[in-house]
Amino acid sequence: MSQECIFCKIIDGDIPAKVVFEDDDFLAFNDISPQAPTHFLVIPKKHISGPAALTDSDQALMGKLVKVGTDLAESSGIQDGFRLVMNNGERAGQTVFHLHMHVLGGRSLTWPPG
Ligand code: AMP
Ligand code: ZN
Repeated sequence: MSQECIFCKIIDGDIPAKVVFEDDDFLAFNDISPQAPTHFLVIPKKHISGPAALTDSDQALMGKLVKVGTDLAESSGIQDGFRLVMNNGERAGQTVFHLHMHVLGGRSLTWPPG
């Protein structure tokens, strides 16, 4: 838990969010500023500042995180096309320094991203 981390506060229920999934290790909730008709975030409950802070001991956790996001994409009805995104560092657009995976879908997604 990081005292100033907005996502840790969501995990603790101190900041409200539209939760779409929760288990012992993960929380998924709708992005407050959706960039697609379906846009939610999957986060580990463990505070990790971002992908670059992962250690070898986080490998199983990250595998599960991708599986949770994929299962939720399917149950959300965007299985025909969705994107999993993790930004690392301010230059890549990371604004919240608690690791999170964006799950986006519900429209055609172009490539390359901006
Ligand atoms: P990133 O820019 O990759 O760090 O993604 C952070 C995401 O968190 C952005 O898409 C924000 O819209 C989203 N976000 C920030 N604050 C909240 C919040 N309180 N509830 C839900 N999503 C949030
Ligand atoms: Zn945190």
